[in-house]
Amino acid sequence: MMKRRMILLGPPGAGKGTQAKIISALLGIPHISTGDILRDAVKSGSELGKKVKEIMERGDLVPDELMDRIVENRLKENDCRKGFILDGYPRTVKQAESLEKILENLNEKLDIVILVDVSEDDVVRRITNRRICPKCGKVYNLIVPDLRPNEDELCDLCKVKLIQRDDDKEETVRRRYRVYMESTSPLIEYYDKKGILERIDGKHQPEKVKEEILKVLEGNQI
Ligand code: AMP
Repeated sequence: MMKRRMILLGPPGAGKGTQAKIISALLGIPHISTGDILRDAVKSGSELGKKVKEIMERGDLVPDELMDRIVENRLKENDCRKGFILDGYPRTVKQAESLEKILENLNEKLDIVILVDVSEDDVVRRITNRRICPKCGKVYNLIVPDLRPNEDELCDLCKVKLIQRDDDKEETVRRRYRVYMESTSPLIEYYDKKGILERIDGKHQPEKVKEEILKVLEGNQI
């Protein structure tokens, strides 16, 4: 049986968002990106947005309790009963413990945690070349052939000039990587001990990484 309740774990820039979108479309299950939820809140100028704007710009983590509440509300929605892809959450052991409780209350359990692994240098190279469309939010990458825009730094769909995420500047990326190593990477051992961790090499092209992910979701690697 295809595993459908999953976390994509890995440093910023590993390609979690790209893969989550592909898998979400293939399996018909929601992609829950806490980064996207927070960026939307900042854009809309909501109370939540005002609270998290500066934290995100620094590359720090938003408080656990706030994130837990956001994810709990999202996971309670009906479309998540068929499965879900968590991207960017949990990011601390405390969040992982909360997630377990949230799922327990829903009578559900995680099927699998997929670690998409890439080196710090690759992370910095990729993220500083990441661009987004300010209009439709589509994500591009100037150095990943599959994700390059057709025309120089213009959105293929909207034809407007692509921009960089505020937290994608090199200095902030290095800080986000440090935060990942300190606060998030302990989750690797946490889920390994539970026997649900699978590692994928994230340095390949998105198409190849997708194939690897599908393999572990089908449980073919044993
Ligand atoms: P991302 O798009 O996943 O790289 O997230 C962008 C930023 O949003 C992060 O650098 C954090 O400031 C914040 N963020 C997203 N998800 C979480 C989370 N689970 N816990 C704390 N902060 C988060």
